[in-house]
Amino acid sequence: MSHKVPFKREMIFEYGEPRELAPSIRRIVANNPGPFTYSGTNTYLIGRDEIAVIDPGPDDSDHLDAILNAASGGTISKIIATHTHMDHTAGMDRLKEATGADTYGAVAGASARGGTATSPSDGDFIDRNFKPDIALGEGDLIETDEWSLKTLHTPGHAPDHICLDVQEQNILITGDHVMAWNTSVIAPPEGNMNAYMASLEKLLDHEHEMYLPGHGGTIPAPRRIVRSYLVHRKWREAAIMDAIRNGHSTIINIREKVYNGIDAAYANAATLSVFAHIERLYASGHISCEQPFSSDASFYPTETEERES
Ligand SMILES: [Zn+2]
Repeated sequence: MSHKVPFKREMIFEYGEPRELAPSIRRIVANNPGPFTYSGTNTYLIGRDEIAVIDPGPDDSDHLDAILNAASGGTISKIIATHTHMDHTAGMDRLKEATGADTYGAVAGASARGGTATSPSDGDFIDRNFKPDIALGEGDLIETDEWSLKTLHTPGHAPDHICLDVQEQNILITGDHVMAWNTSVIAPPEGNMNAYMASLEKLLDHEHEMYLPGHGGTIPAPRRIVRSYLVHRKWREAAIMDAIRNGHSTIINIREKVYNGIDAAYANAATLSVFAHIERLYASGHISCEQPFSSDASFYPTETEERES
């Protein structure tokens, strides 16, 4: 059994050039391409007169100039973070300095898991010192005469992750929660597979016309891709469970079985993704381990295990 997600890799853009994707929504791609950022981080400008910048991107002078140029007919009054991974927010301080805009974003609670020792991209951690001028939570509205954004809290990829609903256009800015070019990295301890799956399900309560992700091109007919991602994760989890039943007991052994032949650049992310599924299988009682639960433990199926579909 196998499941393939219909990835969409094409994307029309030029670095530094704003591109109008819908009335009042423009995208500028930052020049920070890489194995986890695809072509680079997408910065979105909402509005023409009073402008919100969503995800200012890396701390890069050319990108900052491109944002300021694109906004020259109006005023940037708000800067919003979908989450505080550095490729999305490192440029926030300089943009705030240049504009005096208020900053917005969710703040991960003190109980949110995080770490500094494991990262798929060697440094992709939320910013624990992030103190936005205005903290956002589920359902919060950011409004002007021209547009309004509604906050959806979508933890999973990161505990402080939000999506922003551009209500006039019925378009959702999805950050790293849903992207079309690849699946999101769910890397414990920050990443949480249970939360991520619930945050995917949550999107199915809405009928958005289009998603605009933090990396990669636009996503039309987005419910199809959300469903496909849910099926993909469930298929992956079933494959991991099968590997454990067949005696692959450590995270590395399971990864070698389930992600056979993976590109070296993604091997660490794949290991962490297996661990994210292991956490979920362990929490639901499908698997056990003799040692205290950790990424170094050996796992086996719980005797009374009955797998749901
Ligand atoms: Zn991220």
